[in-house]
Amino acid sequence: MTSFTAPKGTFDTLPPDSATFLAVRDALTAPLRRAGYGYIETPVFEDTALFARGVGESTDVVSKEMYTFTDRGGRSLTLRPELTAGLMRAFIEHKLYAGQLPVKLYAVGSNFRYERPQAGRYRHFTQVDMEALGVDDPALDAEVVALGVAGFAELGLTNYELQLTSLGDAGCRPQYREKLQEFLAGLDLDEETRRRAGLNPLRVLDDKRPEVAAQLTEAPLMVDHLCDDCQKHYDEVREHLRDLGITWTEAPRLVRGLDYYTKTTYEFVHNGLGAQSAIGGGGRYDGLSKELGGPDVSGIGYAVGVDRTLLAMRAEGLVGEPQAKVRAFVVPLGDEARRRGLQLLTELRNENVAADFAFGGKSLKGAMKAADRSGARYAVVLGERDLADGTAQLKDLTTAEQRAVPLTDLARTVKELLS
Ligand code: AMP
Repeated sequence: MTSFTAPKGTFDTLPPDSATFLAVRDALTAPLRRAGYGYIETPVFEDTALFARGVGESTDVVSKEMYTFTDRGGRSLTLRPELTAGLMRAFIEHKLYAGQLPVKLYAVGSNFRYERPQAGRYRHFTQVDMEALGVDDPALDAEVVALGVAGFAELGLTNYELQLTSLGDAGCRPQYREKLQEFLAGLDLDEETRRRAGLNPLRVLDDKRPEVAAQLTEAPLMVDHLCDDCQKHYDEVREHLRDLGITWTEAPRLVRGLDYYTKTTYEFVHNGLGAQSAIGGGGRYDGLSKELGGPDVSGIGYAVGVDRTLLAMRAEGLVGEPQAKVRAFVVPLGDEARRRGLQLLTELRNENVAADFAFGGKSLKGAMKAADRSGARYAVVLGERDLADGTAQLKDLTTAEQRAVPLTDLARTVKELLS
């Protein structure tokens, strides 16, 4: 029989490493919970049109990377390539905008993009995503950025940079876009890049190929063409960030892969990751709610890649030895001991002591080896003579000291010893 491997661009997260994955996910979301963000879960697939409209037809994500399929009812569905569009759909569908604003939401989940796999870039990856919806206030932009910073601080990450810019709004961006297109039309560009300049000229600014980048040094920049409103908004965001002690780099050429961003836009870039260096990013989006059939309200948020954050932590040497899963290990000798041992196991767990058992009818030697491997501090050895005495041998696996403890006191004793 042929056997299977995980599909190209995907991977399994196995224990004990998976414990670190969960810890990273929880650390990244802890500051959000403290700031009043509520957890939201939306479907892994949505109507294809939601992403086409929400993320933007001209983006690589929509035009090249979506996992789109027709279901048995003839609907076109797409596995979500990002979380914001689904959250906005829920915000509109459930009229969350009718309540207290901003609506603060966070989600954690799988995303799917048909990308060329490489280190840090996968076809299935996990993001922590947060959104503050319905309020256009520079102080909120600062809160959102600060919460991203707080998540990384929670993990002890330091070798990253916050890159910040403003992408203007529906008033000033179109004018700038035209200026940029005029400029790009005068350059010596290949067919494909010329096509991109027509469709999505801001993306050309992001072109890292030396022959293109060399021609872009004099390109007009959005930050030099902001309207008064956008300029004021950006100045205020930066003032708040300064007040909060947050440092950043001005990144006037920063362009993100999704179309909907306006005004404040940012990325967290780690210096230990090679080509795929963005560990998170986000920004404000003025038009998204309206574009998706909702009220004309603004929102701001970010998405952090959990898998990439984990890579960044490894790069900084922040991932330690995995913690032992269990603290006590029950070793029964004989059938009678087995039955009482299984009860003891439950008693230990009821006392909140993580405990395991020598399953599989092992010999004493095999069972003690299993106890050692489990990382447990205590082995509870239950022989026939002990059983007749109503006791068990409690062995400290770090010192090899052993003593008899009455069965009725055992779970409590282990709990006390461990506390
Ligand atoms: P985006 O939704 O493209 O703004 O990405 C936000 C974050 O998700 C990035 O900064 C990455 O950390 C992560 N990310 C995006 N695409 C991938 C991918 N293909 N594989 C792993 N992580 C990704």
